[in-house]
Amino acid sequence: MNLTDLQALEERYLMRTYKRAPVEFVRGEGALLWDSEGREYLDFLGGISVCSVGHCNPDVVEAVREQAGRLMHTSNLFFTEPMVRLAERLSESSLGGRVFFSNSGTEANECAIKIARKHAHRRGVEEPEIVSFDKDFHGRTYGALAATPRLAADPDLGPMLPGFRAVPFDDGDALREAVGERTAAVLIEPIQGESGIYPLSDETLLAARQACDEVGALLVFDEIQTGVGRTGSLWAYEQTPVRPDVLTSAKALGGGMPIGACVTSPAAAEVLEPGDHGSTFAGGPVACAAALAVLGIVDDPTLLRRVREQGAGLRDALLALDGVREVRGRGLMLGVGLVGGIDAAALGAELLANGLVVNVPEPGTLRLLPPLTVEADQIDRAVGAIGSALLSYAANQ
Ligand code: PLP
Repeated sequence: MNLTDLQALEERYLMRTYKRAPVEFVRGEGALLWDSEGREYLDFLGGISVCSVGHCNPDVVEAVREQAGRLMHTSNLFFTEPMVRLAERLSESSLGGRVFFSNSGTEANECAIKIARKHAHRRGVEEPEIVSFDKDFHGRTYGALAATPRLAADPDLGPMLPGFRAVPFDDGDALREAVGERTAAVLIEPIQGESGIYPLSDETLLAARQACDEVGALLVFDEIQTGVGRTGSLWAYEQTPVRPDVLTSAKALGGGMPIGACVTSPAAAEVLEPGDHGSTFAGGPVACAAALAVLGIVDDPTLLRRVREQGAGLRDALLALDGVREVRGRGLMLGVGLVGGIDAAALGAELLANGLVVNVPEPGTLRLLPPLTVEADQIDRAVGAIGSALLSYAANQ
């Protein structure tokens, strides 16, 4: 089947929720991808921050192969070792409480929302409210969607779940004002990913922590994109002055296998009780074995230091290019703000045609999320490709 055949079948059978680029990838290794015509690409999107240990990382492949050959599924009614070992590893490497597994990021946030609401009811709050920032992205299921103001505003998807409120991005005063007796949680991304890579300031994070503490609300960090080493520490909160009460993870956690997790501090660990929440597939042994292999690679001070150093080098190299206005983010989670008037979508398409995969989360921004195992010469190649594309774009104006 060639690309044209695939496009025809997609057109006939798949719901039109995605606008796919006209490429069929058939193989991956490290930071490289190959399409069905044998063309090689450098992947600086990493499956949207999923393939952080590189495509087909041998440790992950082996863990999946071994576990899939032994036991794939039993449900949450029984014990399996990968699940409890992964829960221990996630808890001990972060907030120290309990873990609920899910199959995706949005479901991890559903669990956090449930914890927040129940925690608030225990404080006597009748109509709990969750506060997020404008342009936060927390997922597509209805709870997470309600905390994603940009998408929740779509009247065709209504009615929305009540009890959600948004304040202007990075506005600590507005946040402080919005948090009150009714607040169940402040649910935020420490660095916004989908909106174009916008980090929150330390002052705002401190304001959020303080506001939550004053009313007894939970501070929830959505680390679905920032976590698992992406910013140069295992969790992004480690490089901020605050510690959340709950964090959510997914994306890179499974190295390509679908898995999410909601992790609590000890104080929030006992909120959910038997019957409060569940999932048939979540915590399955294959996904958990993959995640253990991923953490075995990423939870390593040498790798994390390298992510910070390579991120700093990449940022400097990008800032030196004509056409780049600013570079936002931390570690290997970078948003490249282009000089006004440059059509980022056209640039992204040109880069893809030239063998570099990036994405365009908003007009005027390229988003770079390469594997954390990317090689120095691959970073140089990516910068070279972006520089050449910017030059040819300018020449054609
Ligand atoms: N939260 C953040 C910060 C995300 O970036 C995403 C996905 O892009 C999600 C939640 C939703 O994750 P999923 O697509 O796995 O449901």
